[in-house]
Amino acid sequence: MSTIFSSSNFEEFFFILSKPFNSMPEFLKETSHAVRLIADELYIAMVSYSLDSPNNALQDAVSSDEIIIFRCDNIELSEQKNIHTYTIGNGGTLTITFTGRKNHEWTDNDEASINIISHQIFSAGTQVMTSHLISQAVTTNLLVKLPNTTGFYHQCNSLISTNKINQYDAFYFNIKNFKYVNNVLPLSLENDVLRAYSDKLKEFILPNEYLAHFGGDNFGALILKERASSFLSYISNLIIDFYYEDKTYNFTFGATVGASHLDDINDPRRIMVCINGAYVMARHRHHLIEYYSDELYSEIINQKNILAQFKPALNNNEFLIYYQPKVNVNTKMLCGAEALVRWKKNDEIISPLRFIPILEKDGSICELDFYVLDSVCRFLRKIIDSGIEPIQISTNFSRYHLTNKNLANEIVAIIDKYSLSHNLIEVEITESEDFRDYAIMERLVRTLSEQGITTSIDDFGTGYSSLNMLKKINLNLIKIDKSFIPLETEYLNKDKDFIMFRHIVSLADALGMNTIAEGVETYTQFEYLKDAHCDMVQGYLFDKPLPEEEFIKRLKNRQYS
Ligand code: C2E
Ligand code: CA
Ligand code: CA
Repeated sequence: MSTIFSSSNFEEFFFILSKPFNSMPEFLKETSHAVRLIADELYIAMVSYSLDSPNNALQDAVSSDEIIIFRCDNIELSEQKNIHTYTIGNGGTLTITFTGRKNHEWTDNDEASINIISHQIFSAGTQVMTSHLISQAVTTNLLVKLPNTTGFYHQCNSLISTNKINQYDAFYFNIKNFKYVNNVLPLSLENDVLRAYSDKLKEFILPNEYLAHFGGDNFGALILKERASSFLSYISNLIIDFYYEDKTYNFTFGATVGASHLDDINDPRRIMVCINGAYVMARHRHHLIEYYSDELYSEIINQKNILAQFKPALNNNEFLIYYQPKVNVNTKMLCGAEALVRWKKNDEIISPLRFIPILEKDGSICELDFYVLDSVCRFLRKIIDSGIEPIQISTNFSRYHLTNKNLANEIVAIIDKYSLSHNLIEVEITESEDFRDYAIMERLVRTLSEQGITTSIDDFGTGYSSLNMLKKINLNLIKIDKSFIPLETEYLNKDKDFIMFRHIVSLADALGMNTIAEGVETYTQFEYLKDAHCDMVQGYLFDKPLPEEEFIKRLKNRQYS
């Protein structure tokens, strides 16, 4: 025996099997090569192995068919076998079988050598399996036995390196209403339901499609493009029958999904950014599914940035108030102004059109409107104290305030804080699409009016403004939107604009309301207004919205030429 093991072929065999292997295929290939070196000396015709491993934390039970490691060409097998069964971790077994060559009986010495060879193969094999398990542990979510984020990256990488990635769509999805499970089952069963959910997902998946679990109730998938829409239907209505204490609980789960096509993508991190971004988009827009697009994503990021930066900017006094003069049509005298907000971010002045619609999304607009009113009142107090005759200033109140029953009182409190006469403030509101708001609006306008505060309806003629509103609510002023002011150039339906404009003005007049035309840019337009007996005008023809210092200059010179 000692002679056998000192042969150079055996030395080579042990040398090969003592090297570390990176993967199972590499181990099998090298082992096959190593066995070939000694097969003749030990009359080995074939070596095979089979694995039987029970369910474990990383993977479901595995029971492999016999895998042939080595087969000697053109040699017939004998009946003689040398079988070794080794116990591996978790109670599984690995069986290595050596089959002899026909017409040759193994000697005791041969068998003893084969035992040693077998053990050497076993230990090299367990080394590979252990490192495979470790890498699986790193890339697998133990709870649901699916690849985790790292595992998902690996799958993306392997599809990228084989140029197959463009055959897939990628998904990031979150189970909708998963928390409902806790309302009907004990908290401790949450994970079991999550497992049942991922088992159900696995039923949909083809061998060349991939699932991942990103933690909590967040999952990922790489699905063949042509099956993407059926996958979306599948996860938007996934039914699980869950058995607990002799009862079956039916759960129907939906999902909020971020999806992405994967053409021209060659970095797994980019895939993650796209599906994550699409998921953020879906959440933000209250959609169930959103496919990634660069434009939409940057728009949403912009919105999120604005919402996140709003409070700090407010504390940092980055919001400035501009004042746009209102002019009496008959006397061409300054008769009021509208306060319009701007955001001074670093050295840039940002238009309200870029941030107000966003602040309306989460109600932050209300805080801004109060801030503007407060600033206007402080400004009025300052000019009064410096001996300048004050003027009525209007501030805009978003319709999102209408749910605030205390709005009128809060407005009064701010004006009173600066001990100002109430008639120095006018509140501009826009009509809402919601008819029920009439009652609320009516009460608001009445309360303000009892307090001596003037009210106006903004953008009249656009959006939802209706005659019903004029009938039901006693406003002081109608601000006619610039889209109704006839332009000086000739265009289709100009005569209709003119008729409507005149009649809005005379209707308002008959109902005891004043009128102001907004967005007047030319002298010809001004002549139209005069003709129609409109009371006031606000527009670039006289002044743009002015920063405070310039508006103070205007207050000292109120006559327009
Ligand atoms: P708005 O209340 O209808 O304000 C009039 C807008 O028309 C202002 O735009 C003003 O600069 C612009 N404008 C005035 N004269 C002319 C003109 O002759 N030609 C043209 N083309 N435009 C003219 P701005 O300041 O950009 O404000 C836009 C909108 O933002 C306002 O429309 C208002 O809805 C909103 N807004 C501004 N400040 C506030 C605020 O403090 N609170 C709320 N809730 N909304 C505000
Ligand atoms: Ca306005
Ligand atoms: Ca307006």
